[in-house]
Amino acid sequence: MMLVLGIESSCDETAAALVCADRTILAQRIASQDEAHRPYGGVVPEIAARAHADRIAPLIAATLGDAGLTLDAVDAIAATAGPGLIGGVMVGLVTAKALAMATDRPLLAINHLEGHALSPRLADPDLAFPYLLLLASGGHCQLLLVEGVGRYRRLGTTIDDALGEAFDKTAKVLGLGYPGGPAVERLARQGDAGRVPLPRPLLGTAEPHFSFAGLKSAVLRAREAGIHADADIAAAFQQAAIDCVIDRTRRALALAGPVGALVVAGGVAANQALRGALEALAAAAQLRFVAPPLALCTDNAAMIAWAGLERIAVQGGPGAGDPLDVAARPRWPLDPAAAPVRGAGVKA
Ligand code: AMP
Ligand code: MG
Repeated sequence: MMLVLGIESSCDETAAALVCADRTILAQRIASQDEAHRPYGGVVPEIAARAHADRIAPLIAATLGDAGLTLDAVDAIAATAGPGLIGGVMVGLVTAKALAMATDRPLLAINHLEGHALSPRLADPDLAFPYLLLLASGGHCQLLLVEGVGRYRRLGTTIDDALGEAFDKTAKVLGLGYPGGPAVERLARQGDAGRVPLPRPLLGTAEPHFSFAGLKSAVLRAREAGIHADADIAAAFQQAAIDCVIDRTRRALALAGPVGALVVAGGVAANQALRGALEALAAAAQLRFVAPPLALCTDNAAMIAWAGLERIAVQGGPGAGDPLDVAARPRWPLDPAAAPVRGAGVKA
């Protein structure tokens, strides 16, 4: 049975995984760099790239060791080739190229977003195309119609910050730790969202795009006003963000046509309040709600290996490989036909 080694290094997680075509994850390791970036309240690209370079080779060796295997057992090597912080992407991709060359196995250059888009199918064999995916992470906030392997329609994206970034910045304003999402969620449980009026950017607009920069500034102003409890600010921020996400996702469902499920992925999917709201939205639309286990939601290498396996299944055998001179891409839209969005600081 086909066995793929996956490598992920596009942001602040160095990860390797061995995944079989029957969805068995034989081994996976993730080295988080949270400690290294904590003093800065966000990911510092240069620090990230160095950390990936330090860790990636021993991490792959340890992952193979966990499975009791050597590289000979691997049929193909899949690595994130973008989008992401280019230094880190290059470390992972060059490592994959070297291993592919040394073992004479095909290289699969995987779009990180495609990994997120397909990972729910790794966890859930019954999840059929098409489905609507909300991808909400530290670097991305997108609504994707996943029609099939290699067939993605981007219905909405953020015109400024990603949702996880907004959580992290709110945490910074409130003097909470990094990464901020979990800390904001904890504090929000003790607060009253109704006590702090905050904006809901783009609510009700026709295209299901997101904007969180204005919300972030409003959080800063609310804090500086010095009249609100931090817990109330956290609760109000989280509620405003969730209201935006639900409104935008409802709009995307209306545009998507018939889908079998609403799926959430990305680190922000850890947020219980958001999950609950999405689950209610799916129930109201009589759709299945699928939230993969958290380990597959956040950046990981199993999803990269799985995207490679999905590609092999569609394109037939390990001939689905990429040339060894394939380039790392800091930007790589999943849906090349998607019109660029307008807005200050467009990122995706
Ligand atoms: P990722 O980019 O997929 O690795 O996910 C990391 C992002 O998810 C960071 O921006 C975190 O702050 C965010 N995050 C993690 N847990 C939570 C949570 N419980 N609530 C909101 N955001 C979260
Ligand atoms: Mg991350």
